[in-house]
Amino acid sequence: SAAQAGDNTAKYSDALERLSTELSTQDDPSAAISEVLQDTRDMSAAMATLRAKLDDSQKQINVLREEVLKARRESLQDALTGLANRRAFDQQMAVCLAAAQMAPAAETGTAQRAACLVTSDIDHFKRINDTFGHGFGDQVLRAVSQVIKACTPGDSMAARLGGEEFAILLPEVDLEDARKMAEKIRMTVAKARIRRHDTQEAIASVTLSLGVTLYRIGEDAREFIDRADRALYASKAGGRDRVTVMAA
Ligand code: GH3
Ligand code: MG
Ligand code: MG
Repeated sequence: SAAQAGDNTAKYSDALERLSTELSTQDDPSAAISEVLQDTRDMSAAMATLRAKLDDSQKQINVLREEVLKARRESLQDALTGLANRRAFDQQMAVCLAAAQMAPAAETGTAQRAACLVTSDIDHFKRINDTFGHGFGDQVLRAVSQVIKACTPGDSMAARLGGEEFAILLPEVDLEDARKMAEKIRMTVAKARIRRHDTQEAIASVTLSLGVTLYRIGEDAREFIDRADRALYASKAGGRDRVTVMAA
């Protein structure tokens, strides 16, 4: 359409040239003027078509842009719980560790302040599924996610890594503050009574085991996550429903 409008503009310009020459040589310029009038109308129509097509394209672009944003958002979100998913967590971890290398904790003067990672796993979740059904299991996953979301600061990332496993990445905190946050999550979940949507029956409490660790400058994400997982499994081995801190 733009090319066509361009052609019409060129024709129009030629016609104006001719008119200008003819007007200077003719006694009766009316024939030339009506020709240009017709060209002007054609031109105007071509422009209106172009504008309509551009408007249409703009609408399509807006729809596509929304769809791309939505798809991007969804590709980073866990559909069941609304928490970040593993992909988002991995991306954030890379960003966070790159920032940690740029500003090592030692240089800030507080050796215990750096990125902290909390990993968490619901205790005996298989039993919950087996006793109350998979649907209720999903409800538990959503409820636990809500507690995690409510207890984590805005600059942190709470993710569902898969199954009934969660992780919280805190960009720059004291290890003790990270522990307190993990403890608050543990306590809130342990105290909560989740009701079945269908029967309103409150079930026995759900508990979490958690592991907390501090980032050590130079290590990669795998080492960082493995240490948090070792802390988590120490909590499991110690009897579940507890927080274990493994300092860097
Ligand atoms: P532990 O205290 O040692 O962690 O025991 P557990 O039973 O929680 O651990 P296990 O790994 O044996 O069981 C995890 C269960 O989580 C098994 C699997 O069916 C269930 N699960 C994984 N993903 C989902 C999900 O999206 N929804 C539901 N309802 N269950 C899930
Ligand atoms: Mg598990
Ligand atoms: Mg479990």
